[in-house]
Amino acid sequence: MEITFDLVIIGGGASGIAALTAYSARNPSSRIALVDPEEIGFGRAFGFADPMLLTNTPVGVMSLDVDDPYDFERYLHRRGWNFGPDSFVPRYLVAQYCRERYLRTGTMMRQTGGEVRHVKGRCRRMALANGGSTPVEVHTDEGRVLRARSVVLAMGLSRRHTDVAGSCRGEETAVEPVRTNPGTSTGRVLVLGTKLSAIDAAVTALAAGNDVVMCSPSGLLPAVRTRLSCAPTPPRGHNVVAAPAIPAHTDAAPEPKLAEEVALAEADQAPWQDLVGPFIDELNASARGWSSADVKSFRADHARLLARYVSAMPLHNARILLAAMREGRLEVRRGVPDRLTHSDSHSDVSWDSGLTETYDAVLNATGFLPPTLPTVQPGIGHDDLVFDTEEDGNAAARLDIDLRVWAGDVAWPVWAIGSAAHTRTPIVNYLRTATLQAAEVADSILDRTTERETYVRAAD
Ligand SMILES: Cc1cc2nc3c(=O)[nH]c(=O)nc-3n(C[C@H](O)[C@H](O)[C@H](O)COP(=O)(O)OP(=O)(O)OC[C@H]3O[C@@H](n4cnc5c(N)ncnc54)[C@H](O)[C@@H]3O)c2cc1C
Repeated sequence: MEITFDLVIIGGGASGIAALTAYSARNPSSRIALVDPEEIGFGRAFGFADPMLLTNTPVGVMSLDVDDPYDFERYLHRRGWNFGPDSFVPRYLVAQYCRERYLRTGTMMRQTGGEVRHVKGRCRRMALANGGSTPVEVHTDEGRVLRARSVVLAMGLSRRHTDVAGSCRGEETAVEPVRTNPGTSTGRVLVLGTKLSAIDAAVTALAAGNDVVMCSPSGLLPAVRTRLSCAPTPPRGHNVVAAPAIPAHTDAAPEPKLAEEVALAEADQAPWQDLVGPFIDELNASARGWSSADVKSFRADHARLLARYVSAMPLHNARILLAAMREGRLEVRRGVPDRLTHSDSHSDVSWDSGLTETYDAVLNATGFLPPTLPTVQPGIGHDDLVFDTEEDGNAAARLDIDLRVWAGDVAWPVWAIGSAAHTRTPIVNYLRTATLQAAEVADSILDRTTERETYVRAAD
């Protein structure tokens, strides 16, 4: 059965809700579908029930509505959560916020003759029909076909990043997913990775009573943050020039180094963090005209800097890690295993140094890859866009600088935001980026680009 919509949003995580919020505010009597196999609002980023897992960015930058930066903070206050703009909150509160904004938008739109519908399923294919007011056919894996005037891709991150696990030589490199609870009994857990996903894994494993080893090629933890603001912040009373903003002992062992960073953050002597929010916004805006190859090499060339400062860890998590290091329950190691061999009860891990160890669980927390844009498959229909295919010979669709999808010479009425826009956006793992893009794309769809900055078209 075919159903017709003004807008179909692929993905009902936080980015999808940001797209819904932006578009419905501009066109409240429209019909919108969110396609997602999961419940709307949860997504991979924030759909964790564990209250131990905090957001990595504070309340002040997590509004879904770019025109109302206090929306999330007000939402929390109305429900009795007394968090301020610098608070890092349990991640499930963001999921609840997304879910409620989805439900509230549906109620508001019904009052003006509009509609929001969740179409449960995974989008597999999109086809472009000739002519008509709803030219895009969206096909789901359950055989549904939606007809849309416009489509927004908000699929979030894709497969787990496998660099660390994949670099292990050996017959068996399969590892447990990070969400796996390493068990109730005290054990020994190896966490592959030392960045934000790995810190989540370590914090959870430590709380369950395990001893933990974290490892990565660099063996470096991110910097420690107490805030992140999108507006440049005036100096907070201390002497910015004299402040030891960056720890002096960069080659120090993990524990004294983390201790120093925690002390600096606690003393409000980490002024570098006031530059991070404006830096992300400025970088993403000015990189829009870069080729996708330039965006990719920028990320690769500055990977350490971005992982350390843009993806800094909240002070709360840093204190947990530091306490565990001091108790001898956490080791952060440089290097990756040479070989992993799993049995039902444990994993044997051997390292380049010749060391062999036994762990009760191995958690792959090496992060996630951005999604591939749907692939152009000529021949099925009108050069259809197909999801989840990595077959050779099919070119990935291309994003123009206005985040619109091109397949060959044809501009589709399809736009990408959040992680799906990674070829045009150096820093996508940040909800604010998706909300800014959602507003821009809503304007483009409704042809209101003149109200905002327009970019010079330079498709690569
Ligand atoms: C564990 C984790 C923690 C993070 N923490 C923060 C943080 O604290 N602050 C911050 O700013 N950013 C954070 N990020 C970065 C995050 O990626 C962005 O903030 C992003 O905006 C999250 O929302 P999303 O909707 O893009 O992705 P997701 O939450 O991954 O949601 C994507 C949705 O799309 C659906 N989907 C995917 N493919 C299809 C398809 N083909 N058809 C239909 N549906 C599909 C999925 O089922 C999913 O529900 C985090 C990311 C992760 C992975």
